[in-house]
Amino acid sequence: MNLGRNDLRRWLTAPDASALFAEARAVRARTKGDGVFLRGLIELSSVCDRDCLYCGMRHSNQSARRYALRDDEILACARLARDLRFGTVVLQAGECPSLWTRDRVAALVRRIKGETGQRVTLSLGERSEADTAAWREAGADRYLLRFETTDRALFAHIHPGAPLTGAHPRLDQLRRMKAQGYEIGAGMMLGLPGQTLESVVEDLLTLRDLAVDMVGLGPYLSHPQTPLGQESTPSEVPVSADFTCRCYALARLLLPAANIPSTTALSTLDPAHGRHMGFEAGANVFMPNLTPAAYRDGYQIYPDKICVVAPEADARSALYADLAAVGLRHAYDH
Ligand code: SAH
Repeated sequence: MNLGRNDLRRWLTAPDASALFAEARAVRARTKGDGVFLRGLIELSSVCDRDCLYCGMRHSNQSARRYALRDDEILACARLARDLRFGTVVLQAGECPSLWTRDRVAALVRRIKGETGQRVTLSLGERSEADTAAWREAGADRYLLRFETTDRALFAHIHPGAPLTGAHPRLDQLRRMKAQGYEIGAGMMLGLPGQTLESVVEDLLTLRDLAVDMVGLGPYLSHPQTPLGQESTPSEVPVSADFTCRCYALARLLLPAANIPSTTALSTLDPAHGRHMGFEAGANVFMPNLTPAAYRDGYQIYPDKICVVAPEADARSALYADLAAVGLRHAYDH
């Protein structure tokens, strides 16, 4: 669809977006049918070397609980994903290359692929070209790396040490990984202090220009134990389920065949309606959490993170009921 800056700006600010959501559903029906893919999210560890101003796992947050899964625990999660017929596991972690070394991750990918036959998505943050090449070689299919914002000054402010000029480190890595043959996923947080509406328009156009295969975007949720959580700088971008859903719908129109999850952050912002609203705005993916119960509380990137716990049958039946209520069903992605 040929959406320009003006259209995006207009839809982000229109008094009512129901026609946009209807259009996004129609496009999803054409490109994806009525199937929603489930991905088993495994949060490998909350140990992080970085100090991103927004994230509860940042290195300097002394009150964060730190954990790291063992390889046998990760494999058990992956087997569970296979048994639940999810078809894909997403391995996500805080950034700690000494813990998640090139060789360890490559071996894990090989074992998961060999023993469960599932697709593997990695989400391990900013890593070298040699690391991502080795993991691709080992069989990793996809890599999820949000660029968070395309506004260079804002990106540098919230990522200590990031350069202000030259290539955007995350956009750069995304382009490299695309060339390595990964399916790439990217996106942004919405409502960051100091974020402008115009930069969100740019974020959306960037997703299209990158031709991403997956779009991961959600509201920014302020964490009191972080510097950004203490900042009172206003944002032009609302932290709201409605605004988040407008971005899902616009992403669906810009990238008709993309996989777009209704995110945990959206469900956390509005536990009663968020997930459902995401599907009504054109999302077609959901990522239930497979992290073992004993560790789950440790992955507090933002407070009160809700957890749709995949192993629990009642959580899954509630999810399937939710999908049925909007005319969708769980589909197996292989
Ligand atoms: N270390 C990995 C994974 C980070 S957690 C990486 O950097 O890619 C995954 C995503 O959670 C981040 O990309 C960010 O968009 C989101 N996130 C982190 N803190 C958040 C917050 N306070 N509110 C909303 N989303 C947040």
